[in-house]
Parts: sequence; C-alpha cells; structure tokens
Amino acid sequence: MPSFVNPEKCDGCKALDKTACQYICPNDLMVLDKGKMKAFNQEPEMCWECYSCVKICPTQAIEIRGYADFVPMGATVSPMRSTDSIMWTVKFRNGTLKRFKFPIRTTPEGKAVPDGGFPVAGDIKDELLFTEPASIGTSFFSLKQEGGRHSV
Ligand code: SF4
Ligand code: SF4
Repeated sequence: MPSFVNPEKCDGCKALDKTACQYICPNDLMVLDKGKMKAFNQEPEMCWECYSCVKICPTQAIEIRGYADFVPMGATVSPMRSTDSIMWTVKFRNGTLKRFKFPIRTTPEGKAVPDGGFPVAGDIKDELLFTEPASIGTSFFSLKQEGGRHSV
C-alpha cells in the first residue's frame, strides 16, 4: 500500500529547504507544492512501500492507503511516532479501529551508517555481497571452497 499525505495535517515542514519526506524517500517520490505548502506522493504506483516517509513525518501527516481497486475506500493505516516506538492505527471502512505498537530504531536523522560498520568489500565484481564474508561469520576462503553462494 503506498503512502498518502493528508493535506490537513501537512505543514510543508515549515518551508525548510527540503521537507523530511523529500529527504528520506529513496525513490524521490515526494513533491512539495510550494503554493499550498503541502507535500504529495507524485507517483503512488512507484512507491516502494518502505514507509520511511511515514515514520519521519513530524506531523504524522502521511498515511498508508490501499489502491482503491482492491482495498475498500476509507480504510487507512496511520502512525503515531514516539521516541522508541510507533503506534499504528488501522482504521477499517466500518469505523473499527485497531492499534499495534512496535519498537523502532532510534538512530538520529542523518546518523545512519550505510555499511553497518562492516569492512568495505574491495571488488565490485566479486560474487559476494557487500558485507560478506564478515556479516555471515565465515571466511571468503571457505565460501569459495563450497562453490560460492550458488552452491546447494
Ligand atoms: S514530512 Fe510530513 S509535514 Fe513535512 S512536507 Fe512531508 S508530509 Fe508534510
Ligand atoms: S513509502 Fe518509501 S518509497 Fe513510498 S513515498 Fe514513502 S519513502 Fe518514498
């Protein structure tokens, strides 16, 4: 289900150079209408559904909505973020509400370490993934002996 900005809650991140949802979206989908100071998802069908924008929005303006052709209109999922968790509120079309609370990481914005602290692999053409073999607790040599990751 893609993200949807509720214009009644969005304040355009108070005219910062770049809104939080624009900053975080890995697919550059969020656009700010500077006339109305409201953001919107310009291409919902291209949404990765990562929900990074949902979690970062300071006003909880971004909801999750199903495509109208297979999810009944009026159903939504919206977050309420605290420092260590997110409370998701699921609203059914008949008005039923259910809430689920999940813990979240508390890495401050802009402080994430992309490689997770693992040593950077040297050869981009290597068959191993970026953090291997360190991240799977074995050595490059033993992986080679087993025929690499494609062995069964
Ligand atoms: S992060 Fe939230 S408040 Fe800021 S522009 Fe995006 S939807 Fe609006
Ligand atoms: S859910 Fe992810 S991909 Fe979709 S608009 Fe938000 S940040 Fe972008």
